[in-house]
Amino acid sequence: MIYMDNAATTKLRPEVVRAMLPYMGNRYANPSGAYTFSKDVRKDVEDARKRLAETINAEPEEIYITSGGTESDNWALKMAAAEHRGGHIITTEIEHHAVLRACQNLERNGIRVTYVGTDEQGIVRLSEIQKAVRPDTFLISVMAANNEIGTIQPIEKIGEFAQSRKILFHTDAVQAYTNIDIDVKRMNIDMLSTSAHKLNGPKGTGFLYIRKDCLKTPMIHGGGQERGMRSGTENTAGIIGFAKAAQIAMANRDMRTSYEIKIRNYMTHRILNEIPFSRLNGHNSLRLPGNMNFSFQFVDGGTLIVMLDKQGICASAGSACSTGSKDPSHVLKAIGLPDELSFATVRFTINEDITKNEVDYVVNCLKKNIQELRDQSEDYKRFV
Ligand code: PLP
Repeated sequence: MIYMDNAATTKLRPEVVRAMLPYMGNRYANPSGAYTFSKDVRKDVEDARKRLAETINAEPEEIYITSGGTESDNWALKMAAAEHRGGHIITTEIEHHAVLRACQNLERNGIRVTYVGTDEQGIVRLSEIQKAVRPDTFLISVMAANNEIGTIQPIEKIGEFAQSRKILFHTDAVQAYTNIDIDVKRMNIDMLSTSAHKLNGPKGTGFLYIRKDCLKTPMIHGGGQERGMRSGTENTAGIIGFAKAAQIAMANRDMRTSYEIKIRNYMTHRILNEIPFSRLNGHNSLRLPGNMNFSFQFVDGGTLIVMLDKQGICASAGSACSTGSKDPSHVLKAIGLPDELSFATVRFTINEDITKNEVDYVVNCLKKNIQELRDQSEDYKRFV
């Protein structure tokens, strides 16, 4: 199998599994207990929190463990809204559904939301955000990098602007975290969402960074864990595994991302040169190291993915969450792609394990499949 869907999820690293195992075995104590058995586990959890905080230059008490990206996004938006009843939020048209649907829900409860567009390459312009600001704007939420087309957004500039206007700034960094440099202090980020399973960590674990005193409303009421903000007995194995995965991802980031960029550029070059009527969606260089998103005119992306699957290749039509959806991707729509090209789109997201030989195999399969599909297409025959 050749796995090229790392934006959907990633493989657990053996080191991460090894780090987690004791907490599913002998170190099963509840971290809240008053005895040494519990205190030792609590110390391990707090060490993990400290290591997670270091990855974004935050303080440990600003890291709140969650069940992943979706919960972190919902928490940031809904609790900020709870503290600013009736105000206005600025977000973008290309956010993940965790942000978009949370915003739609808030709109039903009287919050106003402006969805700012992007340019043709999927970059959100600061000037558009500046134009959207109203006197009652309390929150700007812009993702650090997009999950479908990989575009990296100018979050440092947006953070600086938000801070100058005393507006809260949240960024969904689920795809960007450990792939690009993030410093919450330098970038004036008030809240930041992450998810462990995107960086070879366990599913069902993430964190929301909340700058000290930015939000005071608890997400989940109960026994008072996570400093009273998110109650519930800690997912100890998940937290330990997340910290281990983040630590490894940060330690090898430069080497890993430069390899991925080299392989990505090679694969992109081959596809664009050897497959006629193909285009790369998103920005050429301001994109996540492992992301490629192509449209192949006169080809149905869903059928192409099934053909690739039979050849042992895992790729995706846009985001994993919208697989099976009959609607065109909202991200591709936002960058101005016509529906017929949206439906002709395939996303490949590689990691550092992919070899050049594997890329050659994938490109050769693609060429063959696309020719076969085009040979059956009346539109294509009329066109050429
Ligand atoms: N935000 C972005 C940008 C994502 O790509 C994803 C997952 O694909 C999420 C949020 C949701 O994260 P999780 O799967 O951890 O709930």
